[in-house]
Amino acid sequence: APVIGVLALQGDVREHLTALAAADAVARPVRRPEELAEVDGLVIPGGESTTISKLAVLFGLMEPLRERIRAGMPVYGSCAGLIMLADKILDPRSGQETFGGIDMIVRRNAFGRQNESFEATVEVSGVGPVEGVFIRAPWVESVGARAEVLAEHGGHIVAVREGSALATSFHPELTGDHRVHALFVDMVRDKRAAGSR
Ligand code: GLN
Repeated sequence: APVIGVLALQGDVREHLTALAAADAVARPVRRPEELAEVDGLVIPGGESTTISKLAVLFGLMEPLRERIRAGMPVYGSCAGLIMLADKILDPRSGQETFGGIDMIVRRNAFGRQNESFEATVEVSGVGPVEGVFIRAPWVESVGARAEVLAEHGGHIVAVREGSALATSFHPELTGDHRVHALFVDMVRDKRAAGSR
């Protein structure tokens, strides 16, 4: 089984570990560059993207993680994790950086105050209808030519894939439905198989 890490600096790490294990991956938390070196793929959890960005610098993970993503390591980010995978944030807090990996521009807390948290059924291409849990969720303003839009909600892009990078505005790790994680585990398996040919 592929070994998949969950970036464990802040956010809903445990829920992703559980969902990955249910999708037949070996899941482990990643906090140090040595741990990052040992995984076949990485999940960046939901939480607070400014905090994750600052802690990644503090833990010496910002550059090693950028390098691995550039080298093609599969990554999946939910919510704050989607923000961390964006090449550009429309409204970054001061000092906020991203790992990058997907040619897209994201808007933080985009769904607005009166509607900060909600659930909606989202049709995810290749997966089917998924119960989307949105919590102070970002949306994707625009994507580049290489990025594939997998889902929209209310006219806004909420799931994207570019090569081995996957991102959702919502939190499949909170629903007990592991199909999005299973898609990511398949992406990691495909990448490993391609690497060993
Ligand atoms: N609003 C948060 C951010 O900007 C994301 C919220 C979430 O991950 N549920 O990072």
